[in-house]
Amino acid sequence: MSQIASQRTGQSLPVLIIGAGPVGLSLALALSRQQIPVQLFEALPALSSEARASTFHPPTLEMFDEWGIIAPVLAQGHKVTQVTYWERESWQCLGVFDYALIAGDTPYPYRLQLPQCEVTRIIKPFVEQSAYGQVFMGYRLISFADKGDKVEATFETPAGRKTFQGCYLCAADGAKSIVRKQLGVAFEGLTYPDRFMLAATDLNLRAIFPELGQVNYIFDPEEWVIILHLPDVVRIVFQIGPMEDEDVVTRPTAVCARIHRFIGQKIPFTLHQTSLYAVHQRVVDRFHLGRVLLAGDAAHLNNPAGGMGMNSGIHDAYLLANALASVLSGGDEAALAAYACTRRDKARFYIQRHTHENYGAMVLHDPDARRRRNEKYRQMAADPVKAREFLLQASMLDERI
Ligand SMILES: Cc1cc2nc3c(=O)[nH]c(=O)nc-3n(C[C@H](O)[C@H](O)[C@H](O)COP(=O)(O)OP(=O)(O)OC[C@H]3O[C@@H](n4cnc5c(N)ncnc54)[C@H](O)[C@@H]3O)c2cc1C
Repeated sequence: MSQIASQRTGQSLPVLIIGAGPVGLSLALALSRQQIPVQLFEALPALSSEARASTFHPPTLEMFDEWGIIAPVLAQGHKVTQVTYWERESWQCLGVFDYALIAGDTPYPYRLQLPQCEVTRIIKPFVEQSAYGQVFMGYRLISFADKGDKVEATFETPAGRKTFQGCYLCAADGAKSIVRKQLGVAFEGLTYPDRFMLAATDLNLRAIFPELGQVNYIFDPEEWVIILHLPDVVRIVFQIGPMEDEDVVTRPTAVCARIHRFIGQKIPFTLHQTSLYAVHQRVVDRFHLGRVLLAGDAAHLNNPAGGMGMNSGIHDAYLLANALASVLSGGDEAALAAYACTRRDKARFYIQRHTHENYGAMVLHDPDARRRRNEKYRQMAADPVKAREFLLQASMLDERI
């Protein structure tokens, strides 16, 4: 299948995108909608079925609207209009924050819960149906070369090794990015001692805790818990300490016992899926080198408390698509440097800060610090002005890109 040249830019070489996760697919969609030819390569034979991210914040939904995919995304997702904070030890509700307070700030005043693997399945056909988009499944990037006026990328494919040429190469190949490794750029930061364990269940937790909200952050220094109501399942996220053995804690019997301990009752339920993740805070040194650009988890990682990692990766894709469209239409190359600088600053000074603060609030040990935290949440929730400010920040609306 040959790639058509862009009528808009006259450019015949496509933008090569590595990785069909939410970020690579968003970038491919955004570029193809601007009539920029793209070729997207995914190592797996089919889209990943890992649930991982499930929270989509309002600015991301606004981008989906611009890209023409908001209707199917909303149709499949679960709209959450309140988020609730608790302290586990005392089972005190510290505050309920209602998204009605930000109804004047966005057309999408809620967080949408939908597994990222459902959203990638929505986006891919839109890319493939565009005259400008091609998706190659089962193509694993093994090396690339920046030739100055173009890039060459070599893949292991079901039909053997193949090389493609492009005008730029965009790495959206996730946390273990081979592109980042081959560039040799630093990826500094930290790895948390705790891990996050996701358990997808059919438990009706609101029958047990009637005051439970749709999304709940339950603070505890020993074992915090996050409860998220998704379209078909209830997802429970547990803190797993550094001394706990991965193979032991993820056994279905151990997961069920942990859930029974948490709810204080031995009621039967179905455990659909369990997965355990190490979590990091890292930002790459450079998002842009020559004809190579990084986006999403390839460029920055953060802990999932607050659900900002994938959202910020999709925001990278939005800005990068606009920068590439501008450069490929004859605009100044500086647009790419501006992309790199803006998104690196956003990752370092906004996403990392807020996710680290979110995590810090969940694990506070010191009794005085916990009292101060609880009071702060109570006061914010009770004051509509403060609650709105809090929701704007939690929704990533306070610093729109
Ligand atoms: C437990 C957990 C919960 C989370 N919850 C949220 C949340 O609610 N909200 C949120 O915003 N974020 C959340 N995140 C973060 C989110 O999952 C990631 O930020 C997101 O998946 C990043 O998307 P990506 O497209 O950059 O990378 P990925 O989703 O990792 O996709 C990368 C793709 O590249 C492919 N690939 C890799 N190497 C190659 C290669 N050599 N050649 C070709 N293809 C390749 C991979 O197969 C993969 O399909 C969560 C993370 C975890 C661990």
